[in-house]
Amino acid sequence: MKMSETSETIFDEAEDCCQSCSLPFNDEHTDMRSPENPKYCIYCYADGGFTMPNATADDMVAIGVPLLAPRMGEDAARQYLQALIPTLERWQC
Ligand SMILES: [Zn+2]
Repeated sequence: MKMSETSETIFDEAEDCCQSCSLPFNDEHTDMRSPENPKYCIYCYADGGFTMPNATADDMVAIGVPLLAPRMGEDAARQYLQALIPTLERWQC
């Protein structure tokens, strides 16, 4: 059973997403989970480490906005990512 997706609920399964960039591991992105570290996606984690070890949460927002913008609009994407990404595990002290 699949819930209908709206721009507000499309990433509700936030607990099962990349803990660096917030990419959701849903049906659409199930292949993007890193086999080396299932907390992260293949874009964030590869070859035994982060692909961008010096990145900040702000950098991830900047990267994610153009990816999400086609779905939800640029302003909404930026607000969404600015609220979500700093809460992910990688960015906790
Ligand atoms: Zn990621």
